[in-house]
Amino acid sequence: MKIASVIVDVPAKQTDKTFDYLIPDKWKDVIMPGMRVSVPFGSRQIQGFVTEMKSSSDFKKLKEITEPMDLTPVLTKELLMLGDWLTEHALCYKISAYQAMLPAALKAKYQKKLRITDGTVIGDLPKNLQPFFAERDFILWEEIVKKGLVPEFQKEVAKGTVEVIYEVKEKVKKKLVKHIYPLLSPETLAIEKEKLPPQASKQKEAIDYFIKNSEPIELRRFTAELGISSGTVKGLINKRILGEKMIEVYRNPYENRTFVKTEPLPLTEDQKKAIEPILSSIGNNEHEVFLLYGVTGSGKTEIYLQSIQKVIEEGKEAIVLVPEISLTPQMVTRFKGRFGDQVAVLHSGLSQGEKYDEWRKIQRKEVKVAVGARSAIFAPFENIGIIIIDEEHETSYKQEETPRYHARDVAIQRAKYYGCPVVLGSATPSLESFARAKKGVFHLLTLSNRMNNQALPTVEIVDMREELRAGNRSMFSRTLLEKLKDRLEKKEQTVLFLNKRGHSSFVMCRSCGYVLNCPHCDISLTYHRFNEQMKCHYCGYEQHVPVFCPECQSDHIRYFGTGTQKVEEELAKILPEARVIRMDVDTTSKKGAHERLLADFQEGKADILLGTQMIAKGLDFPNITLVGVLSADTMLHLPDFRSSEKTFQLLTQVSGRAGRHELEGEVVIQTYSPEHYSVELAGEQDYDRFYQKEMMIRKIHKYPPFYYISLVTVSHEQLMKVVSVTEKISTFLQSRLSNESIVLGPVASPIPRINNRYRYQCLIKYKREPELGKALKAVLDRYQQEIVSDGLQISIDLNPYILM
Ligand code: ADP
Ligand code: ZN
Ligand code: ZN
Repeated sequence: MKIASVIVDVPAKQTDKTFDYLIPDKWKDVIMPGMRVSVPFGSRQIQGFVTEMKSSSDFKKLKEITEPMDLTPVLTKELLMLGDWLTEHALCYKISAYQAMLPAALKAKYQKKLRITDGTVIGDLPKNLQPFFAERDFILWEEIVKKGLVPEFQKEVAKGTVEVIYEVKEKVKKKLVKHIYPLLSPETLAIEKEKLPPQASKQKEAIDYFIKNSEPIELRRFTAELGISSGTVKGLINKRILGEKMIEVYRNPYENRTFVKTEPLPLTEDQKKAIEPILSSIGNNEHEVFLLYGVTGSGKTEIYLQSIQKVIEEGKEAIVLVPEISLTPQMVTRFKGRFGDQVAVLHSGLSQGEKYDEWRKIQRKEVKVAVGARSAIFAPFENIGIIIIDEEHETSYKQEETPRYHARDVAIQRAKYYGCPVVLGSATPSLESFARAKKGVFHLLTLSNRMNNQALPTVEIVDMREELRAGNRSMFSRTLLEKLKDRLEKKEQTVLFLNKRGHSSFVMCRSCGYVLNCPHCDISLTYHRFNEQMKCHYCGYEQHVPVFCPECQSDHIRYFGTGTQKVEEELAKILPEARVIRMDVDTTSKKGAHERLLADFQEGKADILLGTQMIAKGLDFPNITLVGVLSADTMLHLPDFRSSEKTFQLLTQVSGRAGRHELEGEVVIQTYSPEHYSVELAGEQDYDRFYQKEMMIRKIHKYPPFYYISLVTVSHEQLMKVVSVTEKISTFLQSRLSNESIVLGPVASPIPRINNRYRYQCLIKYKREPELGKALKAVLDRYQQEIVSDGLQISIDLNPYILM
């Protein structure tokens, strides 16, 4: 095998195929599929992924691979194949598909180093490699390349004695901690011990430790555990019995937390019925997709845990996806509590370095379970026994940038390969999934009761227009205020939820009605109180709040809408004695802030937790007996066919926060559209009726799950150009697709301009259109030149979740 097929890192149509490279003799047996390599391309040196090895090529005069970038493959055989699938199903270039599967640290500029793994001593290495680590903890990659020792080190890496670490320049700092370790073998240590004078009992104790343990140990821990001074250690180092070195420790974001070990709970009859088919799918190696439909608190997570346990017992691995915002400490605790060190956690709160460390644990098979947000679906396990997606209806499982994949689809694809089950869990399944379950494509498992048959909280819907008519101009209805006071007296806790999306505070002139818009985008600016700035959430533009109206010069310029800060101020006025914790983008931007605020609330340091979407999920505190939703309908009026579904899901989700334990819960939903079915049925917590009603509407309007949709968005600085290109695309697609399909466009996008670029779109609705992928690729090819040279942008989303 002297030739490697390589996908090069040039995301363009012409380079979206493999290029053959010769493997120079010195890299023979080193280079393997799934490794990244550095190759000459044109006049440049670029990175690429080896996808295949072969003995001959159709091309003559092949260039040579310059050098490997990895010593072990970063992509498994299965992930390489998954890349092919992703390319087809997300219409992306191969290179983008592969890049998406790797942690960010591997994409950044980095310095590659080798070090001895924990638990290995220099003496374990072949003689000729030992000198490399004699005085140092790391050796640079370039050095072993220059000395021609890559194959030898690769053998060590395969054995696990040496590992490659990537030190990302500037971005990731490795965490180094002083460790001590024995320089001598246990036998020689024993001899050295005998030589010590009788009064050196502490030094003897220290040596005894290393006669039994040869791994390096953190100096601080060593002195604390053995109760000896660092002077004692120093003495042994001076005698050249012990050595000291700085060792990189895995950054462990959960370092200071201990997880109480939990045992599997005896399952209820409902749970037994639900878990049984999952366990048999695991046992029989049969791929099946389960939809686990059960209200919050019905015991879904316990089913996940026990299914995973079975998977681990079978020597296999599990991937668990949770939405980013519900990847709360509580959720992590439940998995770590059950499976301890066998769990790696991946989420955006981690630094690049921490994420890379967690990923590496998966790659090296040091863990059995990967819990994480969307991108954890690419965890490089090679023996997957189950994939679980909690809150499967969450739209954050869809990636909104290239490659535009949905984690659910990727999960099913991977599970088919491994012959294992996918479990989708939700109290409010997406219409797509529930429809599939009803048709028998997915296997429906239902948990109809809450644990201990706790009653669902009672929900009261308050019509805010009535409040206004009764002279109440406050953002709190009379009912909600009364209940808030009641909870304060009883020392019970309240969660106040503000639906911010689509309803951020904006500035308007009360005299002339002028609204402050972004000068680059057709959208109003959002008011940020803490620095008195107006900000555009699309392009980042910022300006000060004007004193006078730019239109009529009046000074009656005010901000409208209810941001969390404004609610907090109002609370301080009407309930000055209440202690409030506010959780929003501003108060949680610092690392660990989210966790700390929740812990404070749990410890009873506040009466009211006020927040946005991020508090809608995962909270499970016994003392919460009241949930207030300040404005239920802010999402209803967005130009999105899923807005009713999202509203229903969110309201149901929030209501589930109350009364999860002994104390009964109450929910107050304030709204300007009490008659809307999504609000009304969320109040009754009636998913089944909501499903029927919404399915009817989707059918009439030809939306998913009855039709598939794809969205083409065109943007450019010149309006005329955008209109004409979108026009041509629409006509072209119309001519290529069957009569049953509907092409809607060209029309201006709901946000017609972002960052000075005009935006037009074309929406395609279809039932079966095998040629669509080809037609859309043809569109991209046709405009390739203008995309490269003229700043034209065409984005294609085969299953859009954002229609703006
Ligand atoms: P969900 O994931 O559906 O919200 P959970 O699995 O979190 O539900 O269960 C809700 C509560 O009930 C949790 O506190 C959990 O520990 C408890 N629970 C779950 N299953 C059992 C069981 N079989 N026996 C006793 N308690 C259980
Ligand atoms: Zn803007
Ligand atoms: Zn004005």
